[in-house]
Amino acid sequence: MKEFDYIIIGGGCAGLSLAYELNINKKLEKKTLAIIEIREKYKRDKTWSFWKVISHNFEDCVIKSWNNFTINSHYGSHEMVNKQYPYQTIDSGLFYKKVIDNLKKNQNIQFLKDINQLNTKNSFIFNSIAPNQIHEPKLWQHFKGIEIETQKNIFDDEIFNLMDFNCEQRNNVHFFYTLPFAKNKALVETTWLSKINDKNLYDYDEQLEKYIKETLKIKNYKIKYEEEGAIPLFYPINKIEQNKINIGSAGCMTRISTGYTFLNIQEHSKYITENIEMIKKAKIYHIGKKYEFLDKIFLNVLRRHPDKMPKIFFDMFNGSSEAVIKFLSNKSNFFEDLKVIFKMPKMLFIKNIF
Ligand SMILES: Cc1cc2nc3c(=O)[nH]c(=O)nc-3n(C[C@H](O)[C@H](O)[C@H](O)COP(=O)(O)OP(=O)(O)OC[C@H]3O[C@@H](n4cnc5c(N)ncnc54)[C@H](O)[C@@H]3O)c2cc1C
Repeated sequence: MKEFDYIIIGGGCAGLSLAYELNINKKLEKKTLAIIEIREKYKRDKTWSFWKVISHNFEDCVIKSWNNFTINSHYGSHEMVNKQYPYQTIDSGLFYKKVIDNLKKNQNIQFLKDINQLNTKNSFIFNSIAPNQIHEPKLWQHFKGIEIETQKNIFDDEIFNLMDFNCEQRNNVHFFYTLPFAKNKALVETTWLSKINDKNLYDYDEQLEKYIKETLKIKNYKIKYEEEGAIPLFYPINKIEQNKINIGSAGCMTRISTGYTFLNIQEHSKYITENIEMIKKAKIYHIGKKYEFLDKIFLNVLRRHPDKMPKIFFDMFNGSSEAVIKFLSNKSNFFEDLKVIFKMPKMLFIKNIF
């Protein structure tokens, strides 16, 4: 049976980000790595977006970057400008190609399908497979996005729409998200924050068609790409094991108030790489206890008062965007936290601490 120094289970965003970070930092010249991945073929399956609050390795996979965005609700519309922290979108197809081309050059790295072919006794394992929690009665962010192309130039590609709450809420929280990649091309996404088993919310195609035709007023368009997903807004069970670290969504890298994960994965990969020689003794990496605490209160409010959320999100983005962007990207200082907290309905949040 073959043995490897390191094993990464799951060659998705987190597994490949870690393998790439280790490889470019020359940590795999004398060590061997197996990446266990079940998919037959890599192709674009996700569109990762985030505010660029730190530098990352995938600038050449960014398909579009914006300094301006809007939030719409029936209370009005905010137009926000932020030049310091652009919002970037990465095409996962470009990401997979870049990483795999790089890893293939190192003979110490192998892609395999089944971990049972290996002797894992002396290996250190990085696991990105989360336990199956699909029946959890907790909150999820679930969505479908379609990339559409129009004949005429109708989008303003200088500004994206982060949230548009002018749509049916069906006793949950629902918004549309539009990323205009070009004047005739945009990703339009219908997003729900709800329990996962509410089948009444899964008519995604009808929701998208109605929004595109009635709100965006686009009659003729072609669908070029589709993506669908469900992100748990709770932490997965993360057992501490001696020779194993969980990474990616399985390793609690998702901000549970927003679903943002991509940049946290990049920071976690850097942390592991810096500590790889003593990985068994390294402290567990956390996004930040303060955010875990505040996000849980936020989600308590969301669960109990979905009707109040459009106003809460709308008010959060009232005024300067810098504090809220840094807060949502886990980079805020104490004063910036206060700025965000003061925009929230304080009594409601205090009542939902417990
Ligand atoms: C459609 C979609 C869009 C998203 N958009 C954003 C975004 O805009 N911004 C953001 O920050 N986050 C976003 N996320 C959240 C998060 O960034 C992604 O889910 C990200 O891919 C998480 O990385 P991961 O490595 O944990 O999981 P994955 O990327 O899903 O990787 C897991 C890998 O494990 C493989 N696998 C599964 N089972 C096995 C098995 N038994 N054995 C071996 N391999 C297995 C899978 O094929 C996959 O390649 C999005 C999520 C989805 C689903």
